[in-house]
Order: sequence, then structure tokens, then C-alpha cells
Amino acid sequence: MNTTASLYAADQTIRLLINGEFVASQAAERRPIVNPATQQVLAHTPCATPDEVNAAVASAKAAFATWRHTPLAARMRIMLRLQALIRENLPRIARVLTEEQGKTLADAEGDIIRGLEVVEHACSVGTLQLGEFAENVAGGVDTYTLRQPIGVCVGITPFNFPAMIPLWMFPMAIVCGNTFVLKPSEQDPMSTMELVRLALEAGVPPGVLNVVHGGKEVVDALCTHPDVVAVSFVGSTTVGTHVYNLAGQHGKRVQSMMGAKNHAVVLPDAHKEHTLNALAGAAFGAAGQRCMAASVAVFVGESRQWLPELVQRAKTLKINAGVEPGTDVGPVISAHAKARIEQLIASGVSEGAQLLLDGRGIQVPGYEHGNFVGPTVLGDVKTTMRIYTEEIFGPVLVCLEVDTLADAIALVNANPYGNGVAVFTQSGAAARCFQSEIDVGQVGINVPIPVPVPTFSFTGSRGSKLGDLGPYGKQVVQFYTQTKTVTARWFDDDVVSTGVNTTINLK
Ligand code: NAD
Repeated sequence: MNTTASLYAADQTIRLLINGEFVASQAAERRPIVNPATQQVLAHTPCATPDEVNAAVASAKAAFATWRHTPLAARMRIMLRLQALIRENLPRIARVLTEEQGKTLADAEGDIIRGLEVVEHACSVGTLQLGEFAENVAGGVDTYTLRQPIGVCVGITPFNFPAMIPLWMFPMAIVCGNTFVLKPSEQDPMSTMELVRLALEAGVPPGVLNVVHGGKEVVDALCTHPDVVAVSFVGSTTVGTHVYNLAGQHGKRVQSMMGAKNHAVVLPDAHKEHTLNALAGAAFGAAGQRCMAASVAVFVGESRQWLPELVQRAKTLKINAGVEPGTDVGPVISAHAKARIEQLIASGVSEGAQLLLDGRGIQVPGYEHGNFVGPTVLGDVKTTMRIYTEEIFGPVLVCLEVDTLADAIALVNANPYGNGVAVFTQSGAAARCFQSEIDVGQVGINVPIPVPVPTFSFTGSRGSKLGDLGPYGKQVVQFYTQTKTVTARWFDDDVVSTGVNTTINLK
């Protein structure tokens, strides 16, 4: 295994990782990885062939036979080395991430750090994977549980967090004793591969972690492969529903984290300065391409008067390439994404929304070909409009107005998505009512993007998630392990047998 091997073949096509080797794909089909600020082609992503997908799964299956018996401490030490390597390489990988994804350098570092936190959490798997023990459940009988790894697990990841989301998946899966096949986003797999190479350098043995690239064909092949036991997906609702159904029909354990429409509810007693700053950051940061971005503002009562100030604040944000110092809003991922966002803004206008700030047609000097959309604010939005019903996934904030907290809660609960929500208020009673009544899996109280740290789990709900268990934290240990219950009795040599017992009672 060569941990310093190039991640790219001679023609700049990113390699696969199979059985500890970075190998050039034999794929005929490949797609460009494009810098969203410049349109420069950075490399190419292959679409792995069926043989290559089979080889990756076979390598993971073979490695599972020994990896599952590797002592806990050995697995944890690999994670300890991995977290140190990620820290050492953080600025370098952040630069790769910004080039291929577009987000600012500071945000790229944040992307890696949020993933790093999961690796740090994986270092404590010794306690996370503990079973339970009950002595004397019947006379001389003990019952205990083992949390055993399940086999070959698959991860399919989106473009918007090419560091954090792969790191949600493979560290926890393999530290629990499983082997893994990762299918990164075809749009920006370069920083993901940098992290994968660090995992090998940290000591992940050949076959324990594999990577195949591609799109639908590769995803479908993994979801239907007879040797795959579990699939973790993060991405859009359409694809996530397809993956959940397909993998489920083929008997896999599946979790699918999907699209969102996250509301920020502003009460008139909120801390105005904090609220407006938080809203602008959460709506327009990362060019609105966060699954937890605040994409809908709900102004309650008199707080509607703050809308012009919010627009002013949005106007001050600096739009530029992510590598440029002081940038607040970088480009969106692709020309296609930009066109879709602009088209949705136009649909809002034609459906009667008020365009309070228009980010279309932005020109950034030096980056004239970049996929830039500036912060956009639409007021007078109604729940029937496309800009409200569809996930926009760009720097667009749609604003609604209601009279009471109860109206706001009813509005949020009527929306099918349940990823994240925030309430801004100085009233403990209002916040407590909100947290109790709101039907959304992740709630922020004066916190605009309430992504839980890895000691908890990511707990999106309703239309934003399929499957019971979250992608990291305590819940994912359940996802990546099978609980085996053992009921045991041991006899002293001199105990006299009581004869045949034909009942089901333990005595
Ligand atoms: P996407 O669904 O287009 O792609 C996700 C993955 O699925 C990629 O690896 C892609 O190659 C693969 N894929 C694409 N089309 C496919 C198809 N037809 N069949 C099978 N696989 C296919 O998502 P994206 O555009 O990369 O990411 C943005 C989306 O992800 C947004 O909807 C966002 O809300 C969501 N997201 C959700 C969370 C969450 O935790 N809920 C986190 C991040 C992103």
C-alpha cells in the first residue's frame, strides 16, 4: 500500500481506491471537475465500471473477515492518528476544497473541522460500542448484549460538504469494525480523496476503506449489490428517496438524509442585532448551499418591520471567489445550479412575491465566468409559491409574515421538510413552547444553524430523512452494529440436573 501515491491518473482523472491501492479507472465515461469561480477544469471524475464496483465490494468483503476481529484499541489508535493528520493537513485540504466547491477558505476549514469532530468522537468507540449486562435474569442465568459490526457498508455523499459528510460516515463505520465503500459526489471528489489518503496513512488496512466514483449507475450497483449490508445516503430528496427504496428492496439497512426548507422564526422580542446578523449569515453563507441554511424567514407581528434592515445587511456581504480574502459569498457549484436558482427567483416574481434584493446578474471582477448569485431577498411570499415549496439551495431568503407564535408554528409544521428550524426570542416561555410544539428534528434557540455536535446525532425528521437513525453520534453506532443478545448459564460440576423442562420459563 502506497500512501503517498498520486490521487490522479496521467490524464488527471481521479483514481479509485480498491484494496489499499489508488487505481486508474478503466471507465470510458468521465466528467470534468470544474472550479465554480473560474470554470477551469481541475481534473475529471470517472464513472467506475461494474467490474470496478464489484472489485471494491469484494475487497471490502475480504477485509471484513479480519478487520471485524481487530481489537478496539487498535481501531481507536488509527482514528487518533487520523485526527492528528487532518489537523496537520487542514489548510492544504481547505484550499483544494475551495477550488473545487467554491466556498470561502474559512468555510472550507469549517467543513473539515466539523468532520474532524466526528473522527475525534470515533476515538471513544471503546465506550460507544459497549454492550449491556444483566446478572441473574433467572437463577444462575445472565443476559448480555454484544454490539457486533455488520459487514460491508456504503456511503453516498453530496457536493455541498465534501469533507464533513464523508467524515460523518467512514470513520464511525470502520471504527465499529465494518468495512466501507465510499461514493463521493462526482462534482467535487478531490478534497474527499485527500482525506481518504490520510486515512490510509493513519493505518486503515487495505480493503477496509474503498472508493468508487460515478453517478447513478454506480450508486444503483452499490445499493443492489448482494454483499453490501448497509447504505448511508446524504443528498437531495429525489435521489435519497430512490436510494432508500432501492437499497431497502434489496434488504439493506438504509438511512437517507435529504433536502430541506429550514425556517427561522423571528419574534418581536428577539435581540434585533443578533437576530439580523444570524439570519444574514445563515441564509447567505456558503452561498445558501447548506442543508441547514436558513432559507425561510418567518416574521411574527411587529418584527416584520426589521425586513428592510435585513436587506441592508445582505447588501453589505462581499461576493467573490472563495480564495479571495474577505469573501462572504462564493459562487454556487455549477452553471446549471446558477441557472436553476435564477429561474426560481423569476418564478417567485411572476407568482407575486416582492423582490427586495436581486442577486441575479452579478459580475465579479477577475471572475467574470464564475457561477455567482448574490444574496437575494423575496418578501410577501405565500406558501403556495414554488420559491416556498421547492428547495432553492442558493443564497435566496424567502420571507413570510404571520401574526402570532402559534401561526408560525402551524406554518412550519405544515411544511413537509423537517431538517432544521430556529426561533429568535428573548422569552424563555416562548422558546419552550416552540421547542415542544415544533415538528422539526433539529431546533435552534437563537442559534440559526443548529447542527448537533458529534456527541449527539444529526436528527433531521419528516420529509428530510428516511430511516430511524442519524448519520453520526450515538445513533450511528446502532446503525453500524447489530445487537446480539446472549443468555448464558454455567453449571458447577456437582449441580444435580432437575430433569427435562418443557416450558419456556427460565428457572
Ligand atoms: P444529489 O442528490 O444530486 O447527489 C447526492 C449523491 O447522489 C451524489 O453522490 C450523486 O452522485 C448521487 N446521485 C445523483 N443523482 C443520482 C441518481 N439519479 N441516482 C442515484 N444516485 C444519484 O445531491 P447534491 O446536489 O450533491 O447535494 C445537495 C442536496 O443534498 C440538497 O438537497 C441538500 O439539502 C442535501 N443535503 C442534505 C443533508 C442532510 O443532512 N439532510 C446534508 C447535505 C446535503
